[in-house]
Amino acid sequence: MAFPNLQWEGLSVQDQPLEVLKYAKETYGGNLKLACSFSTEDIVLLELISKISPDSTAFVLDTGRLHEETYQAIQQCRQRYPNIRFETYFPSTTQVEKLVEVKGPFSFFESIENRKECCNIRKVEPLSRALANASAWVTGLRKSQSITRSGLAFAELDPAHGGIPKFNPLSNWTDDMVWDFVRQHSLPYNKLYDQGYASIGCSPCTRPINNNEDVRAGRWWWESPAHKECGLHPLKQSGTTNL
Ligand code: SF4
Repeated sequence: MAFPNLQWEGLSVQDQPLEVLKYAKETYGGNLKLACSFSTEDIVLLELISKISPDSTAFVLDTGRLHEETYQAIQQCRQRYPNIRFETYFPSTTQVEKLVEVKGPFSFFESIENRKECCNIRKVEPLSRALANASAWVTGLRKSQSITRSGLAFAELDPAHGGIPKFNPLSNWTDDMVWDFVRQHSLPYNKLYDQGYASIGCSPCTRPINNNEDVRAGRWWWESPAHKECGLHPLKQSGTTNL
């Protein structure tokens, strides 16, 4: 399978996301799904995809540990995009109950192994269910978010989910470009950004950052920057194929 990655690179950076989304929607149709954690990137993509196809599907992984402000952003987006279908996936009750009973509510601080176990139960397994009937998916990943994402392509195959295509339309956008778009279009956003948060995940595993830190520094800040991904977007060397 060949994606027009090089062709998109030839467009102005501003125009790239819409063109990638148009291709994804035209090629993969109604079973294309947008992963939505209600980051500013995801809300930019919601705005763009709502222009192309207002009845598109987005999915939310509700880990059970999200901030109140994230739920407020979800509600605002549901109101702004009434025709988007927001699927919500919760973790397995049985697995969460067992994890918390055996290891307590903060096991993820004790070791990387424990942290990955929690992410697997609360994020990775629900993601598999979210993508089980998807023809392709779309993420708000950007190259400049962290060193783990510096080689990000617009389109790649995702071996962890049956080899379906995974599109990253904002790959080349900067943080400033995302925020300019949010302001120009008066988009709703998670109010934690106003408190110094730059990348927002689960409440106990996210903190605000300082001006000189990269945008992902507030996620699992106690771990090495080279290895901290939650399993939703495995590191390149684990098998994701850019085309
Ligand atoms: S980010 Fe933290 S609370 Fe959320 S699933 Fe991962 S380890 Fe668990």
